Amino acid sequence: MRNNYKPKEIIVAGTKFDIVYKTMKDFGELDFDERKIYVSNKIKGEVLLDTIIHEAVHVMLSFSGLGYILEDVQTELEEALVRAFDNIAIPIIKEQIKSYYEV
Ligand SMILES: [Zn+2]
Repeated sequence: MRNNYKPKEIIVAGTKFDIVYKTMKDFGELDFDERKIYVSNKIKGEVLLDTIIHEAVHVMLSFSGLGYILEDVQTELEEALVRAFDNIAIPIIKEQIKSYYEV
């Protein structure tokens, strides 16, 4: 486990997003227009990793334009889709990457 994990920025689709750590109620929040991801300064380790991935999936939906469509259909639809990634797709990817590098 990497305890020193605390990235200051992330590149998504070739665009840099600053990661700003601050006191906040939620784990993470995306300001797409300002290219900033706000993350709670109370979280660390794998929760922090999962939060940054979660916000990166929101960035993906914004860049693709899917976020606008999802918002028009139902306001919580984007969050539901991102949570499907969080709870189903991302654990598979993390597990397979771990297995790949352990072989
Ligand atoms: Zn979210």
